[in-house]
Amino acid sequence: MDITQLGAIVGLATGAVGLTDKATSTVASIKELFDGDKAPDSSEAAKLLNALAGELTSANMMNVQLSAMLKTLTDELRRQDEFASEVAQYELFKTPYDAMVYKLKADTVGQPSHFICPVCLKRDKLVSFIAGTGDYKYCQADATHQFQFSDTPYTEAETTYGC
Ligand SMILES: [Zn+2]
Repeated sequence: MDITQLGAIVGLATGAVGLTDKATSTVASIKELFDGDKAPDSSEAAKLLNALAGELTSANMMNVQLSAMLKTLTDELRRQDEFASEVAQYELFKTPYDAMVYKLKADTVGQPSHFICPVCLKRDKLVSFIAGTGDYKYCQADATHQFQFSDTPYTEAETTYGC
């Protein structure tokens, strides 16, 4: 076994970010094995190096997992931020028939005036348009979310009987 090579490995392992206590103690054991003038037990050294390799692999996997978790968290925070900016474009609006919906703020540029569903917004964190041309407009994501905007009186004149 090449002692200088081992020294490099030990140096690297000691400097590795997030080295676990277990790996640190294995490194110490390897150092001890090569201490002084005694001839190192190569089978013991091989066993310890193998153990260290395993510990470093698991530490590395933890780093990879941690890195993936940080990325997921960053993405999630960015999504929340984008959603918050989108929601900030709307304000609560009461229809003449007391239905509460959200309406695009008048000073928003580049978008036609529209309403979004308050149920979907609050419950599902979803921006869903309210559509329809009748007295009741409905949510595009869930048509059971209906909102009354007007009340057109029923008139006989609207019914065509034919002549
Ligand atoms: Zn809805």
